Amino acid sequence: MGAFNFIWDLHQSDQLDELYERVKKLEEQNEILYEWVQYLKDRPDAMTEQREHIGYTEREEGFYKLYAPVKGSVVTQAFIMCKYCSQPIYHCSGPRSDAVCFECHDKEPELR
Ligand SMILES: [Zn+2]
Repeated sequence: MGAFNFIWDLHQSDQLDELYERVKKLEEQNEILYEWVQYLKDRPDAMTEQREHIGYTEREEGFYKLYAPVKGSVVTQAFIMCKYCSQPIYHCSGPRSDAVCFECHDKEPELR
């Protein structure tokens, strides 16, 4: 019975460690969320500010305007390239396979 209790205690303390790790991760995520909330509170226009129109996104149903990421947002360090002419469209937020530059968007489809 003593051995059983010992094993049980060990098992439980493993679970406690795991729970503790999870709580720690949640606290870290909470902190990040809190920072975001503070950031957005200080900048009520951050979600709606005019964004730079940099090109287009091509979908089956047509083209959508492609905008530069909101200032202060987390972006990837990869260029967005045009899917037709491979010219860089933007210096970060890529890679994307569906972006189209202004020139290719304005060309006739068969000339792209
Ligand atoms: Zn292009």
